Amino acid sequence: MSIPRLANLIDGRLQAPQRDAWLDVHEPATGAVFAHCPDSGASDVAAAVAAAARAAPGWASTPVEQRARLLQRLADLVEARLEEFAALESRDSGKPLSLARRLDIPRAVSNLRYFAAAIIGWGSESHAMEAGLTGAGAINYTLRQSLGVVGCISPWNLPLYLFTWKIAPALAAGNTVVAKPSEVTPCTAALLGELSIEAGFPPGVLNIVQGRGPGVGQAIVEHPRVKAVSFTGSTATGAHIAATAAAQFKKISLEMGGKNPAIVFADADLSDANLDTIVRSGFANQGEICLCGSRLLVQRSIYDAFRQRYLARVQALRVGDPHDAGSDLGAMVSRTHYDKVLGCIEQARAEGGRVLYGGESIKLPGRCAGGWFIAPTVIEGLPSAAPTNQQEIFGPVVSLIPFEDEDEALAIANDSRYGLAASLWTQDLSRAHRLAGRLEFGIVWINCWLLRDLRTPFGGAKQSGLGREGGNEALHFFTEPKNVCIAYGASSVHP
Ligand code: NAD
Repeated sequence: MSIPRLANLIDGRLQAPQRDAWLDVHEPATGAVFAHCPDSGASDVAAAVAAAARAAPGWASTPVEQRARLLQRLADLVEARLEEFAALESRDSGKPLSLARRLDIPRAVSNLRYFAAAIIGWGSESHAMEAGLTGAGAINYTLRQSLGVVGCISPWNLPLYLFTWKIAPALAAGNTVVAKPSEVTPCTAALLGELSIEAGFPPGVLNIVQGRGPGVGQAIVEHPRVKAVSFTGSTATGAHIAATAAAQFKKISLEMGGKNPAIVFADADLSDANLDTIVRSGFANQGEICLCGSRLLVQRSIYDAFRQRYLARVQALRVGDPHDAGSDLGAMVSRTHYDKVLGCIEQARAEGGRVLYGGESIKLPGRCAGGWFIAPTVIEGLPSAAPTNQQEIFGPVVSLIPFEDEDEALAIANDSRYGLAASLWTQDLSRAHRLAGRLEFGIVWINCWLLRDLRTPFGGAKQSGLGREGGNEALHFFTEPKNVCIAYGASSVHP
């Protein structure tokens, strides 16, 4: 059986890469190649940017209602094929099918719908926003205008979820887009591209160029007609993008790595449901979510009892075929990442960490015999400064760290170059508010995890992020304000 080839979407047409080069796309659960992805180059990016630039004036002047209608139509088309998208996402990334069905694809639909709705409310506000009399014989108003061609670059862990999180606000705000999904998980973005034609987006409004970071991603960032770049991925790549973009004073939004703490106080409500959430916050999507809590800080007075209940739950997690409804964890996304995570576990042992559970790869029988599975792993005995507690592992590995009191919890939590998200488990409301203000993170969840309202700002502090996504933050990023000042009479304060 021949292996299917994905296509680029450029100027409204599905196209092969100009140099006819292809990358293998693996199914992490089996290790087998099941698709080929364009290994595009700078010439494909140039063609996409040219198409996007041609489409830009028409799209920017398309009424917001029409832009919103097209995004809604795309959302409807994705929703109608939710099962197909979920199966493809699971196959491509190794994540449990149940998770793709419950989280990834519904959230992608919500992203498209949310920004379709948001731009309608925002549009009426934006065209004559902040109008006001100066008292100096003039009236001011602010135009918020689209930027033109923008670049969107997304990672492999939540492929369609994060791809749509970027393209939806970019398109809603009237920009044309050149987007690049991860070459590790290119499939659902390719299918979305096909559906965008069916939805009726004009040619060149949404372009998707598949390929590697240094080839396609770099070319998008370097292209002088790309006015802004929205990126989600590792901190190392983000730093590289920032340096490249700086030369052109290009607007950038960076969502990067994390080393998130979950902080459990003795006064927390440790109901079964809450404990399940704490476990999930470490191991959902095999720990391959930037928001997963990989440092679990537990107050010493409850440490032993908590550890016992926690480990019992971790031991009950099932690593299995992503297609099985009973699988809690699927496969690691790639052989490279699997090797990296196993290497981090070895390093933790070498640092003196005790592996309380897991710490090894898992060999499954049957169709998954060649898959890249790792057991949920819990480590203890490492100080905050240990590399294991400082580096992002991005796998099913949680490090338990005891603390005495609030001050020590705060010091350990903030002892990181990252600052994406913290979760706090306490019933003391004053403590919750006190710590929320002092935790150096872009998101603080109190007695919950991964609850998201798309209107709220999303992003990280320190080396986890630059700028924010979500709601108005995203619409602001993808537009530029312009002050217009009209004199209507003689004024004494004219210079
Ligand atoms: P990555 O940085 O390797 O790749 C991300 C994207 O950037 C991919 O599409 C890749 O091809 C592209 N890229 C690579 N080199 C590039 C270059 N030189 N120029 C332009 N583009 C380039 O990250 P990854 O391994 O795909 O994803 C995992 C990382 O993403 C983790 O660090 C994780 O924490 C982070 N992440 C962050 C968030 C967040 O919201 N903060 C969300 C999800 C994932």
